[in-house]
Amino acid sequence: MADTKPQSPSLPPSLPPSLWAATAEPAPQAHPLSEARQVDVAVVGGGYAGLSTALHLAQAGTGVAVLEAGEVGWGASGRNGGQVIPGLKYDPDELVGKFGPETGERMATVFGATADTVFDLIERHGIACDAVRKGWVQPAHSPAGMETARRRCEQWARWGANVALLDRDRTAEILGTDFYHGGWIDYRAGSVQPLSYARGLARAAIAAGATVHTRSPVVKLDRDGSVWRLTTAQGTELAAERVVLCTNGYTDDLWPGLSRTIIAANSAQIATKPLPEDVRNSILRGGVVASDTRRLLSYFRLDAQGRFLMGGRGWFREPKDHDYFSHLVKMVATLYPQLRGIDYEYRWSGRVALTQDFFPHLHEPEPGLLFALGCQGRGVGLQTTMGGILARYVQTGDRTELPIPITRIKPIPFHAFHKAYVSALIAFYRMLDRFR
Ligand SMILES: Cc1cc2nc3c(=O)[nH]c(=O)nc-3n(C[C@H](O)[C@H](O)[C@H](O)COP(=O)(O)OP(=O)(O)OC[C@H]3O[C@@H](n4cnc5c(N)ncnc54)[C@H](O)[C@@H]3O)c2cc1C
Repeated sequence: MADTKPQSPSLPPSLPPSLWAATAEPAPQAHPLSEARQVDVAVVGGGYAGLSTALHLAQAGTGVAVLEAGEVGWGASGRNGGQVIPGLKYDPDELVGKFGPETGERMATVFGATADTVFDLIERHGIACDAVRKGWVQPAHSPAGMETARRRCEQWARWGANVALLDRDRTAEILGTDFYHGGWIDYRAGSVQPLSYARGLARAAIAAGATVHTRSPVVKLDRDGSVWRLTTAQGTELAAERVVLCTNGYTDDLWPGLSRTIIAANSAQIATKPLPEDVRNSILRGGVVASDTRRLLSYFRLDAQGRFLMGGRGWFREPKDHDYFSHLVKMVATLYPQLRGIDYEYRWSGRVALTQDFFPHLHEPEPGLLFALGCQGRGVGLQTTMGGILARYVQTGDRTELPIPITRIKPIPFHAFHKAYVSALIAFYRMLDRFR
């Protein structure tokens, strides 16, 4: 019998302030788990992965309850850049080279369709989330970055995707900055108001029959025969035949060793006040969003009210003051001199789960337990898609249908030192980005 010790609840329940928290559609009605219940499947984590799993299971007639420590979208799903970009970190040829033609091609097909999955769900469930599908530009920060863009564009074109290579002038025209060497555009991509999207997924899951319990941190997970018992910080118990854990960058010590399989890196964002119309019309034309080819990439977009958002790496500490975001302010001024000195209305950060091999990870440490984590910063599409994949696997148990293998939990060696390691890596990447 597996048994994990009760953990002290460490996650604050209310949403941290951000542009998205200030402008989102209202949250669906959800309450803490207040009395003992039994369901077929318990999902831990109310982000895109957990909510999409619950939605797909409920649609198939499975009894499912989500337990979320904070509110719906409290984690990265309510704080991200809202850029819906298909694919993994790896390009189709790399996947085929690494896994062989059959698995590699399947992965490229499944993960190349993640933006389709998001926009289909939005349409099917009428999710109000400022969805725009006008494409994602990946501008090249250097000649080497341009080679990456060319290779990526050529491979996805071969895969039948609606993509185009952009020369230097065309990139400058679309983005409104001549900083970049060119780039490529992927028309499969787009953007959403990320918290509204998470809330819409929760609403759709509830309408399909799922229950969503917010402010219900799971502090204990143990097995009693064939049933899993999940105990919340309030001491209430949910019993379930199956458990799907979707805690990603906010994974705690609920399951021994799991949090040491990822690096939970902070990503930070700032947003201006709504821009005057003439300035707004001169940048990111046609509603595109962008993130560049740097290893420590900058990602930027406009929101529905014409605010300019810039995102990039954060630091390991949580933000305490505006200094935390000064590198992003500098980047805005470099790309868009016309925005120098502009006021910033919002600053916030959230955690992205990185794995050592930059692939999402699936684990099944004991019968009835399924863990999915490692979004690598592409989670709007990826984690939504993973939800459908997890739900299907819970129903069929057929490993051959999975686009990624189930692996054993392998903590990163010397994880306790990962802050020092990643800080050194960041300094190294910054140097490479400057020269290549
Ligand atoms: C600043 C930032 C910018 C980003 N920009 C983009 C972008 O533009 N495009 C893109 O595709 N991706 C982006 N990402 C990544 C994307 O947001 C994530 O990959 C995605 O939201 C992860 O979804 P998830 O459901 O796996 O995890 P999360 O949304 O992080 O949800 C995990 C949830 O688990 C809950 N939890 C943890 N432990 C427990 C427990 N013991 N009991 C109950 N609940 C628990 C947490 O409260 C949390 O709500 C960004 C991420 C960040 C942080």
